[in-house]
Amino acid sequence: IAPGPTVRLDDGFARALPELALPWQAEEAPAPTLLVLNDRLADELGLDPAWLRSPEGVRFLVGNAVPDGASPVAQAYSGHQFGNYSPRLGDGRALLLGELVDGAGRRRDLHLKGSGRTPFARGGDGLAAVGPMLREYVVSEAMHALGIPTTRSLAVTATGRDVRRETLLPGAVLARVASSHLRVGTFQYARATGDVELLRRLADVAIARHHPAAADAEQPYLALYEAVVAAQASLVARWMLVGFVHGVMNTDNVTISGETIDYGPCAFLDGYDQATVYSSIDSSGRYAYGNQPLAAEWDLARLAEALLPLLHTDQEQAVPIAVEALGRFRRGYNAAWAVGMRAKLGLPEGLDDAAVTTVVDELLPLLQESRVDWTSFFRALGTAARGDAEPARRLVLDLAAFDVWLDRWRALAPDAALMDRTNPVYVPRNHLVEDALTAATAGDLGPVEQLVAVVRRPFDERPGLARYAAPAPDTFGPYTTFC
Ligand code: AMP
Ligand code: MG
Ligand code: MG
Repeated sequence: IAPGPTVRLDDGFARALPELALPWQAEEAPAPTLLVLNDRLADELGLDPAWLRSPEGVRFLVGNAVPDGASPVAQAYSGHQFGNYSPRLGDGRALLLGELVDGAGRRRDLHLKGSGRTPFARGGDGLAAVGPMLREYVVSEAMHALGIPTTRSLAVTATGRDVRRETLLPGAVLARVASSHLRVGTFQYARATGDVELLRRLADVAIARHHPAAADAEQPYLALYEAVVAAQASLVARWMLVGFVHGVMNTDNVTISGETIDYGPCAFLDGYDQATVYSSIDSSGRYAYGNQPLAAEWDLARLAEALLPLLHTDQEQAVPIAVEALGRFRRGYNAAWAVGMRAKLGLPEGLDDAAVTTVVDELLPLLQESRVDWTSFFRALGTAARGDAEPARRLVLDLAAFDVWLDRWRALAPDAALMDRTNPVYVPRNHLVEDALTAATAGDLGPVEQLVAVVRRPFDERPGLARYAAPAPDTFGPYTTFC
């Protein structure tokens, strides 16, 4: 085998924050086989796709061939899981391989998930199955194509080792790319050490990497917090507008960058219902679709607690500063939601806010009552903006009320082209994802590849793809996700 091109991986995180970085190595994969490779992302990162497909490249993608100079680490973090604090979570089955600077000059983490047990593994086996890693690949690519900030997926590689879940499943490693893996839980961990200088170094890394404008603010750490609040308010509004249910918004799964991370039990809404929960472990509905803004706000309150020592030397005076800053979450979220709904409904800018609020507030109960398919409805409404309301009318039960609403909305002169740019035709629908993952687990990657190709162009309606735009057949039944 010809030696591969030199991959330069920097260990900036480990050098700046050694207390949060545990040097570790991936478990040997007995028979690594590449399942999917994201060629475009590889190019963006300056990695040669042909080399990544070579035996050495594939060993690199499971962490078994470590480039010279690189030193993989497991990252330490804490987290509130379903409201309960765990002081020591960390990368139990993941490694940060290193950082690289992409073609656009952005520093990005290259990270492996499913690469074997680390000292943070607790009772876990350190492994991941092919199905869930491909789910992350498909859904993160869909989110990216929808314009929603997210970690990306470079590759999924089967390890050749089985993983014991309810049954024996083929194991895999996901190579994930993120603008960083700093989480709310990273700050909680640093805070819990009691070492304020470590907390400050972490905050400085976060500012430099994600929110550089904060460095010039009068109070850089307050500005950092405000920037995270703003990024998360915008992110969760984007989720809500597209009908994304994350499923496990624990503080260790909330990024400082504002990227969506950790596609475990996530799913897209089919029928609109605020109470929608897909995750098998979310029995209380804590992370239900409609609770997501509140859950994010709760998580950001935990970040504020972690940052208190940096907000004021007098901790009593730090609290009102944090409370005031957290108050921006609701305003930011509401503003982002309103702007997004306006676009979904095709309403021109400059329209009176009250008029927009009225049409939105009158529409949502109608959709909830009929459990209208969220994605299909807004796309059909674009057709209504062009004069044919029948596709939208067919989705709603209370037609008398809906016709009244349609007249009011049409009076606002909706812009159908704006709606088509805003409302996707194709999202990774739950039944399609399930079918594709089942096929992949049995060795057929065709359906995954087709689904990825469809969701990469979510707004562009194409002939022959009607089944990707259609809601699940009734036989699919209620959907439950497992992480
Ligand atoms: P998650 O729910 O995926 O965000 O993970 C929460 C925590 O559990 C993190 O510390 C993970 O590293 C750890 N974890 C999840 N699955 C495993 C596994 N199979 N083996 C070891 N650790 C795991
Ligand atoms: Mg996680
Ligand atoms: Mg996970």
